[in-house]
Amino acid sequence: MLWQFCLFGTIQSDCTEDKLGGDVAENKKTALNYLSCGWCGKILKVDLSSEAITEINTHPYADRFLGGRGIAARLYWEYVPTTARAFDPENHLIFMTGPLTATGAQGASRFEVAGKSPMLMPEGFCYGNMGGYWGSALKRAGFDGLMVSGKANRPVYLFISDGKARLKDAGSIHFEGVKRVREYLIQKHGKKTHYITTGPAGMNLCRTANLMTDNEGSATGGFGAVLGAKNLKAIAVIGTQSPLVSDPAALKELNQLTIKLNKRDTSFNPYPPDQISRTGKASCFQCGLDCILRSTFRTQSNKEVVRKCQAMFVYFPWVMGRPGEPAETALDATGLCNDLSLCTMEMANIVQWISAGYKAGFLNDSQTGLEIDKLGTWEFFEKLCNMIAYREGLGEILAEGLLRAGETLGMDAKRLFANEVAGVGDGATYSAREYPMNGLLYAFEPRQPIAMLHEVSRIIGMWVMNLQYPGSTPVSADVYRAAAAKFWRHDKAWDLNTHEGKAMAATCIIDRTYVKDSLGLCDSCWPLMVSHHTDDKVGDSTLEARTFNAVTGKELDEDALLKFGEIIFNQQRAILLREGWNPKKDDTIADFNFTDPVQSVFMNPDVLVPGEGDIVLSRKGQTMDREVFKKMRDEFYQLRGWDSETGYPAAEKFRELGLSDLSDVK
Ligand code: SF4
Repeated sequence: MLWQFCLFGTIQSDCTEDKLGGDVAENKKTALNYLSCGWCGKILKVDLSSEAITEINTHPYADRFLGGRGIAARLYWEYVPTTARAFDPENHLIFMTGPLTATGAQGASRFEVAGKSPMLMPEGFCYGNMGGYWGSALKRAGFDGLMVSGKANRPVYLFISDGKARLKDAGSIHFEGVKRVREYLIQKHGKKTHYITTGPAGMNLCRTANLMTDNEGSATGGFGAVLGAKNLKAIAVIGTQSPLVSDPAALKELNQLTIKLNKRDTSFNPYPPDQISRTGKASCFQCGLDCILRSTFRTQSNKEVVRKCQAMFVYFPWVMGRPGEPAETALDATGLCNDLSLCTMEMANIVQWISAGYKAGFLNDSQTGLEIDKLGTWEFFEKLCNMIAYREGLGEILAEGLLRAGETLGMDAKRLFANEVAGVGDGATYSAREYPMNGLLYAFEPRQPIAMLHEVSRIIGMWVMNLQYPGSTPVSADVYRAAAAKFWRHDKAWDLNTHEGKAMAATCIIDRTYVKDSLGLCDSCWPLMVSHHTDDKVGDSTLEARTFNAVTGKELDEDALLKFGEIIFNQQRAILLREGWNPKKDDTIADFNFTDPVQSVFMNPDVLVPGEGDIVLSRKGQTMDREVFKKMRDEFYQLRGWDSETGYPAAEKFRELGLSDLSDVK
């Protein structure tokens, strides 16, 4: 079925080909090759200041930047002035789906968010990624993406429904929490409404406020506060159409294969099962995969909620460490953060800092306005969260984010920060000390690159689990080595006790992740590196390309698809350089990596890594050697075609990637 949307009102064409620089002529030659399969062909552009609602053409962008993360980065490059501050009307919030979104492709619910982040210090380009239903709904409403700029002169929300977009009054929900906003939108527009919103933390411009979506989905980076600065309370979407798929039969076959290869145990429940039981998965749009990221849990009081990933652990250690405190407090702590839209990684760091400050005699009750000996209770956490979200007392300082609070509170306060404290996300998880290539993954990104870090930590975590419970995962040492050789393309990539092959591994992980984030694929199951259901238990590295081809009708092999990853990585590099990233100073990792020995890792408490044959080694107590890191980085520059002295991509590299218009970046 073809898209047949008629946009009402003020929508006009805003063709941006002139912004595409020197490679447009080349694109025009292949314009006839543009296929609408997988895409609607339109990105909605909303200027809240003038209330102008226009469209831009997706195809020139999709042809060069693939989708989601790639197109969002390019739009940021073209539309967000370097001088704009995060809360300025000139900042844009960019939401982009991928070509697989809403096509029925498995695990393809994700969409990318990009903009200037108020959470970074200094403010700068950042990105996030959300799942659930909203991205699919947006495409099913006739738009591949949405770009919001300006500032509304009153609280509004944007309502998008089957090809129409309208601004509506949000006065009655302006400072409400996420739950209330959801109820309001569903009551107004019906049960098929999907939403992005932010709670009081976002509307009060807490720099670390999240964007929230259906099923407790979130994106960090402070984009909730950017929504607040724009006076935009929510973006509600209803979509009922489906995009064209080039070869539905091939897609169906690939989906069946993906579901089969991904079959695995999903019973992970961090809570004490006698208090909280896992009841199933909280699905995203049309996803039939075994999911390890989103689960539904039921409490003893019969409350059923969705909880996910790191957010489950925001208060968990303190609750579990307090005798008599019910596990439900930990579960509810996540719910409170989500309702207020506070970043759970930031909140975990704040609680850690208060705990350390109290023990060191640096913080007390009268300074903080908290009863610190109640740490671990519901009462303590609720008060702390509300103080931050509503900027009361110490919350006024903490609402600026822990990094900026450190600048205000001074060196003694900063000394008590855990290594995890970082601009956006957690700066110590899966670090270079335990998994060396991860140093390179951290070194070139403006935020914690969690989807990339997962590519290493998951397979090692599965190998550790298999050591403990043989057969529980497909990952023996031999399977790990074979998967590393296939996906990281170096015969030494598997060996975590040497830097050899780690630069190559990092380039492979980066390119594959950028492609994943651009296609809209979910980090919970992509890439499929290992499987219980292949002969050699090694996964399939070609599935992404084959699925992309089935949807779009293009004919790309794995390498051609990965090339998009390199293009997008270089586009992002140009953005960072333009905004003041200094390779000599910034292409590195946090200093603790070189000084503080690793003690434990999530899913791998003894920091075990495979040695030759069946030998099991531990990296407990290791640090990253500065010279070794430098060697890996030099090799990485070389592999990427970047100048070894300056760290800038060489002009020939930009040309090769079709990015000649970025050559002047300073
Ligand atoms: S695997 Fe889980 S998180 Fe990923 S798309 Fe499916 S339901 Fe969503």
